[in-house]
Amino acid sequence: MLNFDFYNPTRIAFGKGKVAEIDKLVPAEARVLIVYGGSSAKKNGTLDEVKAALGGRYVEEFSGVEPNPTYETLIKAVAQIKANRLDYLLAVGGGSVIDGTKFVAAAVYAEGDPWEILLQRGANVKQAMPYGTVLTLPATGSEMNDGSVISRTETASGLHDKLYFTSEHVFPQFSVLDPTKTYTLPPRQLANGVVDAYTHIMEQYLTYPVEARVQDRFAEGLLQTLIEIGPKILQNPQDYDLQANFMWVATLALNGLIGSGVPSDWATHMIGHEITALHGLDHAQTLAIILPTMLSLRRDAKRAKLLQYAERVWHISEGTEDARIEAAIQNTRAFFESLSVPTRLSAYNISADAIPALLAQLESHGMVKLGEHQDVTLDKSREVLEASI
Ligand code: NAP
Ligand code: FE
Repeated sequence: MLNFDFYNPTRIAFGKGKVAEIDKLVPAEARVLIVYGGSSAKKNGTLDEVKAALGGRYVEEFSGVEPNPTYETLIKAVAQIKANRLDYLLAVGGGSVIDGTKFVAAAVYAEGDPWEILLQRGANVKQAMPYGTVLTLPATGSEMNDGSVISRTETASGLHDKLYFTSEHVFPQFSVLDPTKTYTLPPRQLANGVVDAYTHIMEQYLTYPVEARVQDRFAEGLLQTLIEIGPKILQNPQDYDLQANFMWVATLALNGLIGSGVPSDWATHMIGHEITALHGLDHAQTLAIILPTMLSLRRDAKRAKLLQYAERVWHISEGTEDARIEAAIQNTRAFFESLSVPTRLSAYNISADAIPALLAQLESHGMVKLGEHQDVTLDKSREVLEASI
């Protein structure tokens, strides 16, 4: 096992009815900004429930945080906070709203240009405004981690950026995970959530083995749970137990636990971000395209773990090593397809013509040595993209 520090200060309030506990979790004197997305939280009543839980506190709202949240929108929330001396944030939504809130929390205290937070990957974040979240979409793990992904459409370079930052100052203070708040999710977002969580686990599990036995078995248990409940949840989105398990799996997939003491990959995510930046695909759609091909083309570097994945997650124990690896990768692709998430660029009308621009984006963002061995060079990324058509 590798050396590690594990730090996670986020309190989780899990279960039906837990939104009411916000009253205890937010300081009594707080001047609160509720941050949310489009209309879903309003339509399904979550927003009203949150406001009721905040009781007599001074509350303002900021709406319109879009999927793949943009700097251009979020910077308006920063202005509202400064103008009205707000001091506590409450994110109500999915990964985009929570990621956006993380950026706002840090940008309020930024010295100079807040975009530097992204350019420096969070190294310059010295403090952030405290905040909590009410999760409505299990997928990203953002509700219990220190990462955030922000897009910007009008950059100096003329490129479309989708960049991440991390900082221990932006962990949520608390997150309310009430599975009933997911009941209104459409099939596309449920499927996206399963694919995103699955890929988070794979990018931390499917690296080279370091005898991290408990992390491996946690990861395998989480993957198997997703395989078991993924298709069922699309059929029964209002099944409490299915949603409860889904919510907790997605949180555990990226809260630092399974990633402690093991090498991590993230090449699939980094290439996926460029596809979203240039073509607007949902985050999970990009992962469904890249992950199976990435595993296929890096099967030698990942051989030992792919064999373990084949045996322990898919129960494949017969055939040559190559045949077992091939079957496990095919099962992974088929699992994503079974959730109606296509796994080829062409299914989204993206052809080989798009590849040079995607590679230029990767290069401009310094993504030229990706993966746990840093062997995913631009040439390797080109191969992966070409094989993903
Ligand atoms: P999302 O972008 O937050 O939300 C997608 C859509 O789902 C929105 O249109 C939203 O509508 C809708 N929605 C949310 N909750 C709903 C509900 N209960 N009922 C009905 N509709 C609902 O999706 P996400 O997959 O959670 O987040 C994706 C973003 O997170 C990407 O930018 C990705 O790069 C990032 N990400 C972050 C991390 C991390 O660790 N921080 C990890 C992976 C990915 P409304 O706008 O109307 O609410
Ligand atoms: Fe992700």
